[in-house]
Amino acid sequence: MALFRPKEILNIFTDLDIDSYREKGFDTVLLDIDNTIAIPDTGSCDERAEKFLKDLKEAGFKVVIFSNNNENRVKMFIRDLDVEYYHLALKPLPFSYRIVCKRMHTKPSRTIVMGDQLLTDILGANLSGCYGIYCRQLQETDTPITAFNRRFEKLIWRYILREKV
Ligand SMILES: [Mg+2]
Repeated sequence: MALFRPKEILNIFTDLDIDSYREKGFDTVLLDIDNTIAIPDTGSCDERAEKFLKDLKEAGFKVVIFSNNNENRVKMFIRDLDVEYYHLALKPLPFSYRIVCKRMHTKPSRTIVMGDQLLTDILGANLSGCYGIYCRQLQETDTPITAFNRRFEKLIWRYILREKV
């Protein structure tokens, strides 16, 4: 069950200590969209998320928007921003994490994955050797499949990690 355990838990994505992770040698961040940095299925990149992307880049991070959602949804989020993305990522399967690392000329050991789901974002990070950081969901509402996953997540938190969301 250690595979579900995030390396760090953040109340919100903007709490990431960007400089300290850069100093530790991380150079790439894969960012989930829905309920991590935007409202599920509809939110585009707002000012707060845009500033976060900018701060990451200014610190020297390569940034990839990394989503299980389709390309239309990802493009709706990105708008006209100049940022790499990878859609239909099939998280938690580890191969897409590794493909993206290769594409960004880095290694999983230098790559942070930020997301709001243990069963997709964090499990895949651990399976691929990336550094998974759990961000509490932005809002309570989820898409149906995510709501289904949440039930299992609650069990994982309660019985395995002995922590509560
Ligand atoms: Mg999500």
